[in-house]
Amino acid sequence: MKSYDVIIVGGGPAGLSAAIYAARGNLSTAVFEKALIGGQINVTYEVENYPGIPEVLSGFELSDRIKQQADKFGPEFIEEEIIKIDFASTNGVKKVYTDDNEYLAKTIIIASGAQPRYLNCPGEQEFIGKGVSYCATCDGALYRNKVVAVIGGGDSAVEEGMFLTKFASKVYVIHRRDELRAVKSIQDRAFKNEKMVFIWDSVVEEVQGENFVKNLVLKNLKTEEKQDLPVDGVFVYVGILPNNELLKKDITLDKSGFVITNEIMETNISGVYAIGDLRNTPLRQVITACSDGAIAAFYAEKFISEME
Ligand code: NAP
Repeated sequence: MKSYDVIIVGGGPAGLSAAIYAARGNLSTAVFEKALIGGQINVTYEVENYPGIPEVLSGFELSDRIKQQADKFGPEFIEEEIIKIDFASTNGVKKVYTDDNEYLAKTIIIASGAQPRYLNCPGEQEFIGKGVSYCATCDGALYRNKVVAVIGGGDSAVEEGMFLTKFASKVYVIHRRDELRAVKSIQDRAFKNEKMVFIWDSVVEEVQGENFVKNLVLKNLKTEEKQDLPVDGVFVYVGILPNNELLKKDITLDKSGFVITNEIMETNISGVYAIGDLRNTPLRQVITACSDGAIAAFYAEKFISEME
């Protein structure tokens, strides 16, 4: 059975940064990623606030660069889905299971990230891929000169809404309150964009259509009034859910399911760290994910030397 100093679960910016620090620190390191290296950032249209990179890169380009940098230090990348982790194995060594293999690790860094939260209203599931999308970068170009709605009031909804104005003739932003959650700088740009139309205090009650989305039924939460809003597409950005399936039994989570760590990214189990969007962090950005990764790898190395 293959054995590593560090197994990193997830190949987004957090996991890749941990891999850079761990492998550069001479720890035998494996990064498990079941999908595309890069994680959620791959579907971000542009990243303009990552220090040291003044040119605007797409999320995919940035993750590709971080991967290239990690490759220089030689961590192993394993394209297998982890289905179980035995955190309580002997002598502090943990065991990781995939469909076909088992691996041992002295430390585990979990960087499994998060995924979009659903609206959970009638019609949403039925029209996924037929007008309901969670990725403007992937699907935005399909809506040239069409009318779309973005649901949510956070950074993602407003930024991706602005991205959609490159294609769509009009972008409604439907938010359940009367002020946005997005940071002020993003708000300022959005309010100046003439294609953005804000519908306040409203939620989507139903997504309707035939073969493709045609209409949203909205409810104003203050007046209780319902309204039809004809649209060609709807992009849902109502927050994220942590990918915590492997952890629920053993790792302490907050009430929303994000992992609680201390300041060295350690979970309730010694030698097990959680980093990036999965953690109950006050700021979910590429830079904070990378920082988490560096801290976790640094303390994983310390943990191993103390173990030995
Ligand atoms: P978020 O900040 O949690 O915002 C979710 C938005 O959806 C909120 O406005 C929330 O309304 C609304 N919402 C939640 N549940 C809803 C429901 N059932 N129906 C209707 N609306 C609902 O999520 P996010 O925008 O995806 O961002 C996730 C994290 O990534 C954040 O930490 C964010 O700062 C970060 N991020 C940063 C950037 C950037 O810096 N460029 C870009 C994207 C994301 P309320 O406001 O009323 O709660």
